Amino acid sequence: MPDPRGFLEVPRAALPERDPAERVKDYGEIYKVLPEPELRRQAQRCMGCGVPFCNNGCPLGNLIPDWNDLVRLGRWEEAIEQLHATNNFPEFTGLVCPAPCESACVLDINDDAVTIKQIEYSIIDRAFQEGWVKPRPPQERTGKRVAVIGSGPAGMAAADELNQVGHEVVVFERDEAVGGLIRFGVPDAKLEKWIIDRRVRVLEAEGIEFRCRVDVGRDISVEELREQFDAIVIAIGSRVPRPLGVPGSDLNGVHFAMDYLYQRNRYVAKLQGGPEGPEPDVVITAKDKHVVVIGGGDTGMDCISNANREQCKSAILLDVYPEVPESGRYPDTPWPMQPRRSVTTYALEEGGERRFGRQVTDIIGDQHGNVVEVAGREVRGTSSRSLEPIPGSEFTMPADLVLIAVGFTHPEHEGLISELGVELDGRGNVKAPMYETSVDGVFVAGDARIGASLIVNAIAEGRRCARMVDRKLRAAQPAASAA
Ligand SMILES: Cc1cc2nc3c(=O)[nH]c(=O)nc-3n(C[C@H](O)[C@H](O)[C@H](O)COP(=O)(O)OP(=O)(O)OC[C@H]3O[C@@H](n4cnc5c(N)ncnc54)[C@H](O)[C@@H]3O)c2cc1C
Repeated sequence: MPDPRGFLEVPRAALPERDPAERVKDYGEIYKVLPEPELRRQAQRCMGCGVPFCNNGCPLGNLIPDWNDLVRLGRWEEAIEQLHATNNFPEFTGLVCPAPCESACVLDINDDAVTIKQIEYSIIDRAFQEGWVKPRPPQERTGKRVAVIGSGPAGMAAADELNQVGHEVVVFERDEAVGGLIRFGVPDAKLEKWIIDRRVRVLEAEGIEFRCRVDVGRDISVEELREQFDAIVIAIGSRVPRPLGVPGSDLNGVHFAMDYLYQRNRYVAKLQGGPEGPEPDVVITAKDKHVVVIGGGDTGMDCISNANREQCKSAILLDVYPEVPESGRYPDTPWPMQPRRSVTTYALEEGGERRFGRQVTDIIGDQHGNVVEVAGREVRGTSSRSLEPIPGSEFTMPADLVLIAVGFTHPEHEGLISELGVELDGRGNVKAPMYETSVDGVFVAGDARIGASLIVNAIAEGRRCARMVDRKLRAAQPAASAA
């Protein structure tokens, strides 16, 4: 029985962070975990609500009050069982999820939410340390083979679920290592990559085969795949960058954020002896440069984090939207909905500046075609449709490197998607209301289906998609054979 008065006695403890002035000199994780006695006190703040809104707020339906209470009681091994029951990779979400569960915590109505994310991370961190996360290969194999294309969190979760129910799973990944955007977008400062490798080793020991450096649709044809597998899961993410659409976007020194982040993540991987990726055509570096990042989301913030670590001359992030109040609670996002939030400022604590309500109108170059300035104006309004320019607010600022981080439009259509001939929805994502596409036996999960989103949604997508694949395969041939 949870402690109904715990939150009255224990205040929420902040997530311990390394000193920004120190951590900016390296690529290591910026957060730390609280000591065990404090974690158990924090778990005591959970009221064990009869209707746990946190559980509903989490796209995975995490059994939050259950494992909070187990942590309160110090029953960590049972807590990881509960956590793994709904979340394949709590070490990813525990570090980088924006935690919609905390926004839906009943305490968030008039107090500070339970520190759910930190408790989640501590459970899985401890479970790995204690050796409780062991490979558990399935007892039986079905004889069915599934190809998963893409090894981001959606592909990894789908592969894990399908393998656990006995199908033979091969994951094809065109990059040199597994993880998708959590490896090549998210910096090590937020999620060190050995954390992904550790999980991949467990999945491999359970029987999943990962084939990296295979671009499906180019290195292996869709026909070959269809011959070799009983079902295909597309989990290729939403990778086509949204263009800025202003003059000067093609100048030297103007790049899409992901091109920069891929290079920085590969640079750090090389430092750590990781697998080498392809050499870039153009090296993108922020060192000694005036950097302007356009776009105020996680991607933009991760660019600032890297630019700081490269010792840029200056780093300015231009966000077209106005500053969100601390609570983020507007009338259109009342509790328990996730409030609109200003994305994490971890990078700005280390250096750089964010300017709200700034719309870029022009990128200006010199006679050699190199970027030298960014021009814009101030705007007011809350959505992209309601932005109004403020007369007389025009500005310019020096820029040697401009990084465009204004989102992604849809998955890449050339190659795999066009070869498969799957139907697309109005936004260019793969259309599959129930995870199966318009092509028999071909399924889709993650950003490729729902558009650019969050890690927690990608994992939830992979899990649900796997259920639909399994249902179809079993309907085709219910008998299972012993492993
Ligand atoms: C810079 C950045 C920072 C982010 N930070 C956060 C954060 O802090 N918190 C959060 O919750 N979310 C964050 N996100 C969003 C999150 O990373 C994504 O929503 C999530 O990774 C999507 O998972 P996915 O598996 O659908 O696709 P992806 O992670 O994009 O993975 C798709 C994989 O498919 C592979 N692939 C594509 N085509 C082929 C092919 N033809 N053959 C073989 N392989 C192929 C790709 O190489 C890639 O590995 C961030 C995103 C970015 C870009």
